[in-house]
Amino acid sequence: MGGGEVTDWQGRRVTVAGLGVSGVPAAKVLHARGAVVTVVNDGDDERARAQAAELEALGVTVRLGDGATLPEGTELVVTAPGWKPDKPLFTAADQAGVPVWGDVELAWRLRGPDAAPWLAVTGTNGKTTTVQMLASILRAAGLRTAAVGNIGVSLLDAVLGDEPYDVLAVELSSYQLHWAPSLRAHSAAVLNLAPDHLDWHGSMEAYAADKGRVYEGNQVACVYNVADKATEDLVRAADVEEGCRAVGFTLGTPGPSQLGVVEGILVDRAFVADRQKNAQELAEVSDVRPPAPHNIANALAAAALARAYGVPATAVRDGLRAFTPDAHRIAHVADVDGVAYVDDSKATNTHAAEASLAAYESIVWIAGGLAKGATFDELVVRSAKRLRGAVLIGADRALIREALARHAPEVPVVDLDRTDTGAMLQAVREARRLASEGDTVLLAPACASMDMFANYNKRGDAFADAVRELGTGT
Ligand code: ADP
Repeated sequence: MGGGEVTDWQGRRVTVAGLGVSGVPAAKVLHARGAVVTVVNDGDDERARAQAAELEALGVTVRLGDGATLPEGTELVVTAPGWKPDKPLFTAADQAGVPVWGDVELAWRLRGPDAAPWLAVTGTNGKTTTVQMLASILRAAGLRTAAVGNIGVSLLDAVLGDEPYDVLAVELSSYQLHWAPSLRAHSAAVLNLAPDHLDWHGSMEAYAADKGRVYEGNQVACVYNVADKATEDLVRAADVEEGCRAVGFTLGTPGPSQLGVVEGILVDRAFVADRQKNAQELAEVSDVRPPAPHNIANALAAAALARAYGVPATAVRDGLRAFTPDAHRIAHVADVDGVAYVDDSKATNTHAAEASLAAYESIVWIAGGLAKGATFDELVVRSAKRLRGAVLIGADRALIREALARHAPEVPVVDLDRTDTGAMLQAVREARRLASEGDTVLLAPACASMDMFANYNKRGDAFADAVRELGTGT
């Protein structure tokens, strides 16, 4: 069942590991195709029981509270992407020679013979923004497309639904790539690589290797970040189709086979007739919103994938102009007394926060939360000269305070020892006190939010509410 195409599912014994966003639709689809499906799930809570009841009514077997045991006779495991590879279920599958597919692998295998090709995007940060920009560009070219995958839109729905697509803009997480051995994208980009999710992957090497899978079997272009050598190394390590090209993106002047920036213009020197001599103007930097350096890099990566697919330059410009970023990603909330307030609550790791801090000259930084094992020394060293002050919140704020004390002792720091709902309002008030006209108060926490908020959205909302209260003088 491993390598070859599965066309007949009748009577195949498939174990679906994990209920939830990917598990339930996977179980339904496989059951509808005649497979004998058993779902195993660690949890046994109310939600799981409701989902189980729905599946059982269809004739699917569900085992709640036991995600460790491999059901007798299993020929294939289809797992939720987040399940850690060292789980006993996978050890048992491995010992029995049973293949394990993730949600992406399943979608890839079930897609029809005339399925739309995939333009895939992965990386530590910027994935969602980039696939959305890419979809916007493809749409501007008149193509039927959607941004799907890790972005919250099921790939299985996209490949099996009635909607006819020409091409898909696919966001893939490192977990999804880990479980997608036979995926072969038309073209793919790795935006950047910084330590993240290492507890899941086991090591930086394993994390990078899983990200690098996105390049395997690419047909037209492997898009890498010139400023991040690790991404180029992954291209080199990949086994691609004959004729597939390595295409770099850079914020500097592009060399041949690169996209880059020349005097405020996004320029293509990869997908042009004579790339030694020619360059094609794509768009202006001001067409990219927000025009922060890391976001221009995202736009260049999206443009590279679109150009690999054959999209004209004008569609790149129109698509970038039509794009509006999702909430909490460098969102300008308001100007109050000449100070800009910017919500980048989505900067949940140090790499993202560093990119965010690099986009402003003079910053009062609101940071802190759950550090997830991160250290902050490098981030502080690289950002120190831009910091006019820092307001620290959340469980692991001492780690940031210590890094500031070590590397930027001149920066005034307010350490907020409270985690109640009013904490963000106080943080914003303190930030305002530290800020002078022309400064930016930037929420770029470099940490996860769950110690104080339900998620990063709620954290960003609390920040925006607090700024509005400032604005109305209450
Ligand atoms: P992802 O889907 O990878 O989490 P998003 O597009 O949602 O990425 O952006 C998440 C955060 O990462 C942003 O709020 C911003 O702080 C940061 N970010 C976005 N693009 C980049 C980039 N190219 N390099 C570094 N950080 C980035």
